[in-house]
Amino acid sequence: MKVAVYPGSFDPITYGHLDIIERAALIFDKVIVAVCINPGKQPLFSLEERVEMISRECAPFSNVEVGSFRGLLSDFVRQRNARAIVRGLRAISDFENEFQMALMNRKLNPAAETIFLVSQPKYSYLSSSIVKEVASLGGDVAGFVSKRVATRLREKFFQTGGEDENGGERSGRFSGVG
Ligand code: ADP
Repeated sequence: MKVAVYPGSFDPITYGHLDIIERAALIFDKVIVAVCINPGKQPLFSLEERVEMISRECAPFSNVEVGSFRGLLSDFVRQRNARAIVRGLRAISDFENEFQMALMNRKLNPAAETIFLVSQPKYSYLSSSIVKEVASLGGDVAGFVSKRVATRLREKFFQTGGEDENGGERSGRFSGVG
């Protein structure tokens, strides 16, 4: 059985991620979407929330599983008997970092091959960070994440999914005050 691991932060899962998952699921017998537990990063959504959101979004794909790991990706890949690491490539700017990680992962686990799936142009500008930024300013993220995820984002930033109960001014690249 050909197993692939698709690792990432998925904070939260976007249509860009889902497109990669769907395409990987057509190539491999099993795809394990693996949420990295990175103590150095402060995610918006907890690990449990991210795993739950991914599980719901991936429910239509019968050969996709969701997991999480701490520590080395190469160890997780070995434990799960996976032969491939799937990553999405959006723009040239992704390349340098991805190239470095792929080479290091090959050194750490020569049995696993990193496979890059090139993003669809319509998702190539999409990242979890930009979605969070837009959502935090009350912008519509309907074209970027599922309805369920959009609701979770509203709840995070505005508690009720409507107004900002914190009343705080939000700043950022799209706010005019950033
Ligand atoms: P990380 O923090 O490891 O970059 P992300 O959740 O941001 O985790 O992304 C996980 C993987 O999904 C990475 O390979 C990333 O390049 C890819 N990815 C993220 N957004 C998109 C997108 N819009 N289109 C294609 N691939 C994407």
